[in-house]
Amino acid sequence: MKFISTRGQTPALGFSDAVATGLAPDGGLYLPETLPDFSGKLTSFEGLGYAELCFEFLRVFATDIPPETLRALINASYTKFSDPAIAPLKPLGKNLYVLELFHGPTLAFKDFALQLLGNLYAHQCQVRGQTINVLGATSGDTGAAAIHGLLGKPGTAIFILYPDGRVSPLQERQMTCTGAENVFALAVDGTFDDAQTALKEVFGDQAFRTRHRLSAVNSINLARVLAQCVYYLQAWLKLPASERGNVEFVVPTGNFGNVLAGWMLQKMGVPIRGFRVATNQNDILHRLFTTGEYRVGDVHPSLAPSMDIQVASNFERFIWFAVGRDATKVRTVMDTFKRTGAYKFENFNRDTFSASRTSDAEIASIITRVHREHGYVCDPHTACGFKDLSPDRVNIVLATASPAKFPDTIQRAIGLEPTHPSLEALKAKPIVKHRIKATPDAIRAFIEARAV
Ligand SMILES: *Cc1c(COP(=O)(O)O)cnc(C)c1O
Repeated sequence: MKFISTRGQTPALGFSDAVATGLAPDGGLYLPETLPDFSGKLTSFEGLGYAELCFEFLRVFATDIPPETLRALINASYTKFSDPAIAPLKPLGKNLYVLELFHGPTLAFKDFALQLLGNLYAHQCQVRGQTINVLGATSGDTGAAAIHGLLGKPGTAIFILYPDGRVSPLQERQMTCTGAENVFALAVDGTFDDAQTALKEVFGDQAFRTRHRLSAVNSINLARVLAQCVYYLQAWLKLPASERGNVEFVVPTGNFGNVLAGWMLQKMGVPIRGFRVATNQNDILHRLFTTGEYRVGDVHPSLAPSMDIQVASNFERFIWFAVGRDATKVRTVMDTFKRTGAYKFENFNRDTFSASRTSDAEIASIITRVHREHGYVCDPHTACGFKDLSPDRVNIVLATASPAKFPDTIQRAIGLEPTHPSLEALKAKPIVKHRIKATPDAIRAFIEARAV
């Protein structure tokens, strides 16, 4: 299968090349040239284990990887999950389920994609006889998940920049206590934006980039979106037949990567009724889905920090479908948005999406209420998903992080502090971090000395 850019000004690539490239050279995002139709295969998928289902799904896209190799890469990617179901679906009440996506090594849903991406990178190194240096800036969850996807993988090194003193202590430990020799956690003197800006310059240095075979880890990689389709598919398959036609997935949303995966699966023939885009107070997507206008805002730090975004980096993929798969129109939208900070869609078709917005005060009261009503402890991101559920649908709320990652917020809401054995174990390990200035020169010098 081939993958094309949403901006249509760069050649189509096979799966492995599109994954290795990340952002397309024309600034667009990769999408399958045509979406496959799984509607005739759903019966044969019933009862498959998570990794096997993932293989049956991804083999349709990753046609340039031999099937047995792909199967082995996928199997290896889901061995570090602590729940045997990988993504357990738990009934909470009438017409209400929670899909727990936090049983991977860093206790957030990003492990589903980044465990696999790490193995795909390592596989490519092996096939090409080359090394790769992965570079990224993080405000928390993505960096930790990327590190745990690559740690100890031969032929790879990973350099993650984060703002010193501005990620949660547990997130910092997840990045700095790995003990792995190919992992470099760089504590930047400055903000996340300072780190991001310096990093962009390093990537802009073509000679340096080529010499060290740098690859960016970010939220727009094609493999991330496709890997995330699988838990929607498995959750849908687990439901009784009488409920399958009426499902609404409720997705705590930031960069729109997670909910986009579910929506694309629907376009591939899985009869899902709708999707709820649940935002926190950083509500650019809620405003879009209610008014048809996409307008940039300031970031206001919230209790659900992994959803604190200004613009949703994966949203361009939805735009491509929304404007009739027309790359010229996508370029017009993105150009206008870049120049003016806003784009107003005429006759905006929100398809099967609805949206909600949850303030910090509401997050706290929802955590309390869900605990009281259902005996269930949800993290602050997941709490956004429990706002204003549709009474006439079978709601499946995606739980994107473990409550144990946010002990203070939970303690204040329900008077109990959640714990998790893997986080407790981290507290005993030494922190290894490298303090660094947020300048391209400092970053280049660091990489120059440690790159593989
Ligand atoms: C990244 C993240 C989100 C947002 O996911 P997107 O794919 O960016 O929409 C939500 N919750 C948690 C815990 C996350 O780490």
